[in-house]
Amino acid sequence: MKAGATVRSVASGAATAASAQPVGPAAGPVGVALLGSTGSIGTSALRVLDRQRHRFVPVALTAHSNLAALAEQVVRWAPACESYGAGLYAGLVAPQVASQEALPPAWGTGADCLVEAATHPDAAIVINAVVGAAGLPATLAALEAGKRVALANKETLVMAGGLVTEAARRHGGELVPVDSEHSAILQCLAGHDVSEVRRLILTASGGPFRTWSSEAIAGATVSDALRHPTWSMGSKITVDSATLANKALEVIEAHHLFGVPYDRIDVVVHPQSIVHSFVEFVDGSVLAQMGVPSMELPILYALTWPERAPDTGVPSFDPVAVGGLTFEAVRHEDFPMLQLGITAGRRGGAAPAVYNAANEVAVAHFLDERLPFAGIAACVSAVVDALGAMPGDTLDALLTADAAARDAAHDAARDYVDYVKGRVGS
Ligand code: NDP
Ligand code: MG
Repeated sequence: MKAGATVRSVASGAATAASAQPVGPAAGPVGVALLGSTGSIGTSALRVLDRQRHRFVPVALTAHSNLAALAEQVVRWAPACESYGAGLYAGLVAPQVASQEALPPAWGTGADCLVEAATHPDAAIVINAVVGAAGLPATLAALEAGKRVALANKETLVMAGGLVTEAARRHGGELVPVDSEHSAILQCLAGHDVSEVRRLILTASGGPFRTWSSEAIAGATVSDALRHPTWSMGSKITVDSATLANKALEVIEAHHLFGVPYDRIDVVVHPQSIVHSFVEFVDGSVLAQMGVPSMELPILYALTWPERAPDTGVPSFDPVAVGGLTFEAVRHEDFPMLQLGITAGRRGGAAPAVYNAANEVAVAHFLDERLPFAGIAACVSAVVDALGAMPGDTLDALLTADAAARDAAHDAARDYVDYVKGRVGS
């Protein structure tokens, strides 16, 4: 039996670990399409694939505009792909005009190259490591083609969780999380039906401003926000971790992946990032998955789930060196993006897509130093208030809401800056 979608197996208990197709040496190397290969998750994934060459081979790589890094990856991986009997597909979404002529003719360009890579006939698994809503069409296309999607691109599920899980269910695709918290939950759930779950508890590092005063947080700079205490990641998710928007996205992601209602998903701050999340079962037992912070384990697990493969990527765990593990309540008043996002998730329809799109725009303004840190939540809140009731029952409706929210967020960011200037001037 082909493996059911992880979402289904967790939500309904219909599939079990034994139902998954074998991957690994017995079946020969499995072709992998890696979307976002030049990013933080993308380069971690290539390190995993390098160690696991006997199990997996990349057959497609995509980047947004980093031609130099993508070209280097193609040179490095083309021989492995050729010995597998295929040619390595490369796609660059937005090549610079000047560089376009220099691209090899076989390379794909434009947004369609994500879907081309995601539906590559030699790829059984698609790692979606693109940042932002741009990853959604590729996730849907891969699931509709019946592939396994190892999903880092959480924005996909936040925007269109219902459509994505439905696509997996209808076409026999699998959705397996790469996000460390969701990988931890999947590992804790192994063999258990979701009806046995009382509560999911997602851990959050608390980000760089965990101990800062409200006044200091309001004045945080870009370099302050990019100084994450425990994880090294792309700039968008690092800012999301500083506002705790990332944890809101993850609560929504967990809701869709595991089919657990929002009132049974909690968040706790855990500064050491050793416990990657907890599952509390109906009998009161609590399981946690632990390890030193490294995305290479959840990436590998998403490829081999429900099996485990020997790997040396993660250093051996030394509890004594870790020292104490501590847990704190979230300071909601200083990190309003968390509750704002969870409320949008509970509201459903287009509200989570609106929250996500507004956040992407506000974070981009902040990274360009055109919006202060406190302006991110102000801007997103204004957009969700204005557009959160838009319909979100079809892909077209969600894309319309996403576009409207982006326009509104640009306006809200400008209004916020004018308002702050006005207050300073008066
Ligand atoms: P990065 O910014 O480091 O990398 C993003 C990748 O996507 C790059 O390859 C980039 O190409 C490409 N990209 C950017 N914009 C587009 C676009 N519009 N269309 C197509 N491709 C695009 O991000 P991360 O690797 O940190 O994060 C990727 C995803 O994984 C995010 O959704 C994040 O939330 C999630 N995630 C990340 C974790 C981490 O540890 N980094 C942990 C858990 C989840 P180029 O290099 O050319 O710009
Ligand atoms: Mg995470």
